[in-house]
Amino acid sequence: MKLDITSIIKDNGGSIQISQTESLKDLESNLGTVTFTSPVDFSGSVTNNNGMLVLKGLARVSYSTVCDRCGEKIEQELSVPIDEDIIERSQAEADESLKDDRFTYSGNVLDLDRILADCLITNLPMAHVCRENCPGLCPLCGAEMKEGGCDCQKDMPTDSRFEALKGFFD
Ligand SMILES: [Zn+2]
Ligand SMILES: [Zn+2]
Repeated sequence: MKLDITSIIKDNGGSIQISQTESLKDLESNLGTVTFTSPVDFSGSVTNNNGMLVLKGLARVSYSTVCDRCGEKIEQELSVPIDEDIIERSQAEADESLKDDRFTYSGNVLDLDRILADCLITNLPMAHVCRENCPGLCPLCGAEMKEGGCDCQKDMPTDSRFEALKGFFD
């Protein structure tokens, strides 16, 4: 959504309540193993604070990915608290100290979608597991390991048997 901020742009302290559920174009392509599976839900507000806009609220989206250990498909929900200062573009360009701020606006339109997509992507967890102590896959047969090891490993020769053979060839 491109938010029309005409009503607050000249009104210091003015605020707009936002409640939207929208599919974001920036989240349509896959990010590694992550696929976003729901529209982005955002509720919050944007406030004019001496010409700087303060966006606050909560953004939520669902996504699917795979377990890092066993490859099982998992569904996750991402909930990101938003608290961003958004600076008028020409002001940000003129002031060196504001250069590192991520978001700017110009004119009477705030590109809310871009800000939400950016905040969601940067807050994605680095690691995903289907459950806390997922044992992963057996390195021998590729099947999901059970607690205490995979069945196929029980048929493997044990070290003690190799020890016995070693003596035989001496
Ligand atoms: Zn797993
Ligand atoms: Zn196995």
